[in-house]
Amino acid sequence: MPIYEYLCPLCNGKFQRLVRGFSDPPGLACPRCGSVEVRRAVSRFATIKSEESRLDALADPAMMSGLDESDPRAIARWAKKLGKELGDEAGEDWDEMVDQMLAEELDGDGEGKAGTQGPSDDLGWG
Ligand SMILES: [Zn+2]
Repeated sequence: MPIYEYLCPLCNGKFQRLVRGFSDPPGLACPRCGSVEVRRAVSRFATIKSEESRLDALADPAMMSGLDESDPRAIARWAKKLGKELGDEAGEDWDEMVDQMLAEELDGDGEGKAGTQGPSDDLGWG
């Protein structure tokens, strides 16, 4: 699961981030106070599951089986869906982050401007 939970010692906040690979994403900062002095929590997605039972459906293997991990767009849709479920915990810039990640995925170099697609709630999900 490419989602890690981070803790902010400054404001005692916690938030989740999509992480590709094992290194922290660039520009990682606390969505609440903006501190970059955040650290990855030991617990990961399991914490979300245990705390938020409503996320069980999202983490359900059946649902995950429908996720084409080779398709960045599919992952982005899933991630946005997850972000909605997470609400405040995901942070206000969750969708933006997902868009940015998707843009980087689709366009390796160059300036992948995420805003060009315009706002859309059509996740094509369900
Ligand atoms: Zn903070």
